[in-house]
Amino acid sequence: MINYEYFKPESLDEVFELMQQYGSRAALVAGGTDVMVFIKQSNHSPEVLISLLATHRMLEQSKMVKNDLTALHQGASQVGSVQVRNVGTLGGNICNAAPSADTAGPLLILDAVMVLQSPEGQRRVPIEQFFIGPSETVKKDDEVLVEIEIPAEMSRFKTAYCKHARRQAMNLPIIGVSVGVLLEGDVIADSRIALTVVAPTPIRVPQVEAFLKGKPFEEAVLNEAGEIASSPECCMPRDSVRCEGWYREEMVRVLIPRVARAALGP
Ligand SMILES: Cc1cc2nc3c(=O)[nH]c(=O)nc-3n(C[C@H](O)[C@H](O)[C@H](O)COP(=O)(O)OP(=O)(O)OC[C@H]3O[C@@H](n4cnc5c(N)ncnc54)[C@H](O)[C@@H]3O)c2cc1C
Repeated sequence: MINYEYFKPESLDEVFELMQQYGSRAALVAGGTDVMVFIKQSNHSPEVLISLLATHRMLEQSKMVKNDLTALHQGASQVGSVQVRNVGTLGGNICNAAPSADTAGPLLILDAVMVLQSPEGQRRVPIEQFFIGPSETVKKDDEVLVEIEIPAEMSRFKTAYCKHARRQAMNLPIIGVSVGVLLEGDVIADSRIALTVVAPTPIRVPQVEAFLKGKPFEEAVLNEAGEIASSPECCMPRDSVRCEGWYREEMVRVLIPRVARAALGP
């Protein structure tokens, strides 16, 4: 049995007051789907939980997100189960900073910016600079993630996310591949590529983006992009209990062209 005091603040000011009052004895909790597991596993229980919310299920049910930010829709819709998505949040998924987070890749290819607020003020951090290691981010203890901004022009990109996992549901990805493509005619004017579970943090792959720029959107080019993405210059997948590194590497090679085609739709 875990004993803690639970606060549901109604404003950001109230959040900061509670954070100042309880300091390291308090933990921010959104859906709690990572926090509660951590508390149970580590035997470290905060005395106070401060609640925040905005769920994966909201993103899954949003037509705007489905149409304009398709990869994010696909990522959020595949987190855990409906029960997990009903309470788990986008903010929690990003602040928890698991290398396998299902929404990290989609937000990387959408050029998302994390808006962090503390009593001292706000700062904006591009998601590429947000993750610094497994479960580690640049967010300071007194900061709350209050917004995730996605530039409006990113809705011009066609995007897709592929979660490659051992089962279809209730499983973390063995590998996550996110692709965004901006076509002018048949030519790739711009692209965004992100990979999860191939490095200590979710990563963008600028080498592949540079290779694709100005090339025709065709099989040979996409296959070459897969080769580049799976090379040691771009990703360093490791062996883990869920899968060996060589298989992750192979799946990056195979999935890059597949996800790029999926981004353009049927
Ligand atoms: C059964 C199960 C299945 C799961 N399956 C998946 C899966 O398939 N894919 C996947 O990616 N994840 C999965 N998860 C992990 C988890 O559900 C997600 O990471 C979820 O998005 C976490 O959101 P939350 O709101 O529950 O975060 P919480 O547990 O409330 O918080 C997580 C961390 O973020 C911090 N935090 C939360 N919100 C903020 C904020 N606004 N500002 C500052 N800090 C904040 C908290 O203090 C904490 O450190 C699963 C978890 C469970 C229990």
